[in-house]
Amino acid sequence: MKVYLSQIEYKYEVEKTFRLFLPFERYDFVDGPADSGDRAQLLNNGECYNVTVHYKNDMVFRTQKFSRDGEFSLTRCLFLALCDLTKYKPVWGMLTGVRPERLYRQNLQNIGEEQTDRLLLQDYMVTPERLELLKTVYKNEERIIGRSTPESVSLYISIPFCNGRCSYCSFVSESVENMGRLMEPYVDHLIKEIEYTAAKVKSLGLTVKTVYMGGGTPTSLNPKMLQEILSAVYKNFDLSQNLEVTVEAGRPDSITKEKLQAVKPYATRLCINPQTLNDEVLQNIGRRHTAKQFFDALKMAANLGFNNINADIIAGLPGDDFNSFQNTVDTLLSLNLSSVTVHTLSVKRAADYGKNMAENLSDTTQLMVDYARAKLTENGMQPYYLYRQSKTAQNLENVGYATPGNFCLYNVYIMDETHTVIGLGAGAVTKLKDPYGDKIERLPNFKFPYEYIDRFNTIIERKDKIGGFYNADH
Ligand code: SF4
Repeated sequence: MKVYLSQIEYKYEVEKTFRLFLPFERYDFVDGPADSGDRAQLLNNGECYNVTVHYKNDMVFRTQKFSRDGEFSLTRCLFLALCDLTKYKPVWGMLTGVRPERLYRQNLQNIGEEQTDRLLLQDYMVTPERLELLKTVYKNEERIIGRSTPESVSLYISIPFCNGRCSYCSFVSESVENMGRLMEPYVDHLIKEIEYTAAKVKSLGLTVKTVYMGGGTPTSLNPKMLQEILSAVYKNFDLSQNLEVTVEAGRPDSITKEKLQAVKPYATRLCINPQTLNDEVLQNIGRRHTAKQFFDALKMAANLGFNNINADIIAGLPGDDFNSFQNTVDTLLSLNLSSVTVHTLSVKRAADYGKNMAENLSDTTQLMVDYARAKLTENGMQPYYLYRQSKTAQNLENVGYATPGNFCLYNVYIMDETHTVIGLGAGAVTKLKDPYGDKIERLPNFKFPYEYIDRFNTIIERKDKIGGFYNADH
């Protein structure tokens, strides 16, 4: 689509608003009005914005007086024009940000609850259901954030290996078949990084609040490696204030009794992620496991005494339909899990499976996430963390649900940027957060295991910056 902006600077915001409705279009910002094909013209005439959009033989026109800041007036005008054009109203209204609860919190502090509700419902046109969800998440998050102190940090330990690659995956992760030989040296270096960083963190009087071992698939490592890494964390960091250690076992086909036994003395929370319980859909997405393997892994974990287990699922997977998704949710509910995290497949990933798949994603996916929310909350789980990805058809949300007392604190701390998160291992990013202000500094580790091993000195040097950050006047 050719887009002409006259006396308007908000190119980025304009494109973001278009993408809420027409995510697959290519947007070319042109220097003058186009007179044929799909095109949009946004004009500022000094008193109001005029928006005209021609799309697939339809045309809409909207005008909006400047009523607030320019960006808001313009995007609202465009948003309403696109609602008319597509006969579709996004559930999150005009909100395009990844963390809607941030906006909610800011406004709550500035203008109070009643006005914040009005702002979101009337100005941003968020649906009442999404506002309700946001408010519940906000309340749960506040309690979790309140448990953090200025000395708190969390740890993220990255295991960038997987037993084969799922077709929708966007993470940097090496397949065990190709890169398994790197596992041993990787673990050795990771332990060195843990020891070095722990000494720095201790010397600053910082204590660990939560630990998250993710990936990749941590259980692609053997039991000895898992035990060595986790015991190095326990031995070196100050865990006297620690509230949670999550091990994201991940794919059920990587889980064995021996691996679970190896992590049991350390982990307080385990993730076993089926993504769907439909075997055909699992095949479609290149996950080499079955629903049965998930049930078996879950049983094994329960028998070993794990009592806080999360399962991740994805709404909108290729070949999945509403009934099958419903079955996944209902079955998970019958298994007495303490937590289920519901993700939405992004448009970008869906497009990899073909344009039709991506275009059909919207309606069914919304039904799926709404069903999951209704069922999980009816059955005693509460939404406690929420974020949106930038490229989903309707900007639908990803939500963590859990029974009270089993919320994953790390998920909230990382999303909210409550306190420093120290990243350890390939692809991990340390996010230093000023405990008394908003300043954030990022220290990334190299992404690939071979780079991480080869350039380990640089990784260590970067960790030296932690002290500088905490000792500086911000
Ligand atoms: S298990 Fe997770 S990290 Fe590994 S390939 Fe599949 S989606 Fe990606």
